[in-house]
Amino acid sequence: HKLIVLGAILALGAEVVFAQQKTIDQRVESLLKQMTLQEKIGQLNQYTGDNQATGPITINPNKEAEIKGGLIGSMLNIVGTKYTRQYQELAMQSRLKIPLLFGQDVIHGYKTTFPIPLAEAASWDLEAIELSARIAAQEASASGIHWVFAPMVDISRDPRWGRVMEGAGEDTYLGSKIAFARVKGFQGNLGDTNSVMACVKHFVGYGAAVGGRDYNSVDMSDRMLWETYLPPFKAALDAGVATFMNSFNDLNGVPATGNKFLQRDILKGKWNFKGFVVSDWGSIGEMVNHGNVKDSKEAAQLAITAGSDMDMESNSYRYNLAQLVQEGKVDIALIDDAVKRILRKKFELGLFEDPYKYSNPKREDKELNNPMHRKIARDIAAKSIVLLKNEKQLLPLSKDVKKIAFIGPLVKEHKQNMGFWSVELPEVDYDKYIVSQWEGLQNKVGKNTQLLYAKGCEIEGDNKDGFAEAVTVANQADIVIVSIGERRDMSGEAKSRSSIRIPGVQEELVQALQATGKPVVVLINAGRPLVFNKIADTAPAILYTWWLGTEAGNAIADVLFGDYNPSAKLPMTFPRDEGQLPIYYNHFNTGRPAPNETTTNYVSAYIDLKNSPKYPFGYGLSYTTFQYSDLKVTKNKITDSEKVEISFNLTNTGKYAGDEVVQLYLRDRVGSVVRPIIELKDFKKIHLNAGETMNIQFVIDKEKLSFYNEKLEWTTEPGEFDLMIGSSSSDIRLRSVIELLK
Ligand code: BGC
Repeated sequence: HKLIVLGAILALGAEVVFAQQKTIDQRVESLLKQMTLQEKIGQLNQYTGDNQATGPITINPNKEAEIKGGLIGSMLNIVGTKYTRQYQELAMQSRLKIPLLFGQDVIHGYKTTFPIPLAEAASWDLEAIELSARIAAQEASASGIHWVFAPMVDISRDPRWGRVMEGAGEDTYLGSKIAFARVKGFQGNLGDTNSVMACVKHFVGYGAAVGGRDYNSVDMSDRMLWETYLPPFKAALDAGVATFMNSFNDLNGVPATGNKFLQRDILKGKWNFKGFVVSDWGSIGEMVNHGNVKDSKEAAQLAITAGSDMDMESNSYRYNLAQLVQEGKVDIALIDDAVKRILRKKFELGLFEDPYKYSNPKREDKELNNPMHRKIARDIAAKSIVLLKNEKQLLPLSKDVKKIAFIGPLVKEHKQNMGFWSVELPEVDYDKYIVSQWEGLQNKVGKNTQLLYAKGCEIEGDNKDGFAEAVTVANQADIVIVSIGERRDMSGEAKSRSSIRIPGVQEELVQALQATGKPVVVLINAGRPLVFNKIADTAPAILYTWWLGTEAGNAIADVLFGDYNPSAKLPMTFPRDEGQLPIYYNHFNTGRPAPNETTTNYVSAYIDLKNSPKYPFGYGLSYTTFQYSDLKVTKNKITDSEKVEISFNLTNTGKYAGDEVVQLYLRDRVGSVVRPIIELKDFKKIHLNAGETMNIQFVIDKEKLSFYNEKLEWTTEPGEFDLMIGSSSSDIRLRSVIELLK
């Protein structure tokens, strides 16, 4: 009886959803019928706002006329209820009153700045990552934003590329999980006023730019595309992502923006994506520079044919599409399809019911000043800090230390902690809003602890004049903390570096401080993995703090004093030297694998550099220790309709409560094509009190054993797999073998 009732409710629910969908489709169709060709093209046109950062907006008169004329479908870089409302009012004066969409790069927070995405990825905490995207959406949507250009899910194996800071690192499995979590977080229940459309980017291959140089060409096999680069996009799609952004790069000779194979065959074909694709900034017009089209007219023709729906900033659609239709070079059906995709989203967001739905000053005020958001930012910031080294248990520090010297060019900085791609609202004084590292430490220590400061040196340059003072200050203290690293604008878009060393004389400053004989804790702030061998080899304690956002100082202090026990694990391999790049943990074996770090004779090695990284993927320490034991595998031989259930015990064998990210890896021993020597297939983040043991379970199913065969079919092959459970990709604690039967 209950089942029948439940069935009826479900059927009714499905009907309601279907009816709603039908209404939206019908409304889209009837609106489309009323639109002139120019108005249709207008919907495909996106422009940036008028330099709001420098003061109150004065809307450019040309833009005003265009919006009133229905010639712009979307704006980016306009934030705040006041300004978005001003623009929307213009759109409401247009003939058909089609509302504008407001898009914004909300990459790691809106007013509350969260850690840079790469740092958040280091938390391996999917719930916390989803929550940070949720809070960003709540704030942005309350400020008039409908659409965020995130998450960036480009896999990146080369830290010279400045945009590694925006992604989730090098691994496809971790990256896909995070992509899913971020989309869910941003979009919540799309259509609710506290949700925004997400835009997964950059489709596709951008992270594989040759030499790590931004915007550079990408040449990759279909295998690598399907195995490594596409899955995070598919995960975003599975999470219901509303939009895609294409990419600046060419992929195997065809710019992504004009790439029919990517956008029509894969995305809108095989994957049946129903949302819309926006170009990257100017990328349609930039095809002229790539040289696969001769002018912006040909660029427009190629882009619309290839499935780019909205033109961000290049004006190629605006000035060419009408003529291309009249000349019979572009079928009006292509334009109609793009317009419909965009209109559908505007309907789904409820903008036709109320174009000011997301511009509510009261809600804006409430969301942007919600103290809970800072708490959440502090929590994930602490979770993002990686403990790289901790000799003789120097950390955590005791709160009774008498004198601490806090030294370095980043100690008293505020905005630096925001990293690249942070939203800067004109009305916020970030020097007050951001908790500097100095303030964080001040907030933490008691009255009996004295904090001493010296800058030591600048981030860049070769001036060592400040060393003497820094050494004097260090000599007075019981413990020295030194905060060094990149400037925040050294990683991000167009911030590729050929050297990924710590800039300037900062590493020498650390050496000078260590020479005092005082215990030195090093904080490294950066938007990418850096090379710092001297520090790595000689400093007793190192925390990798990335860029942690609004609550940076408090979170760092939480970790330094053990109020949070570090639990983060590197989402990217840290090389020894730039000469190893690109470097990643899940590589293939060669026919001549190097047996150890010393033999270089006719094996795949460098004669002047080890193959192994400085710090491997998945690595990160805790103040406590974990023991893995009692591995049980239900069945070692299975058919592909069966599952392997695995369990083991994890024990906190140290003195502190803490979290361990347990990582499950597989290796397909023999495949019809070469398989990676190790691949992450699952993980869990487990909290244990000191002395506590927990039984942990994983399940290995057909999906985890599948791969792309020579014909690029997703399939399984019978054979043996190494099963590895560990604390990092190179710290495997438990092993077994499972066999997939015919
Ligand atoms: C970036 C995108 C970004 C867009 C809009 C481009 O330069 O590549 O990731 O969303 O600008 O700001």
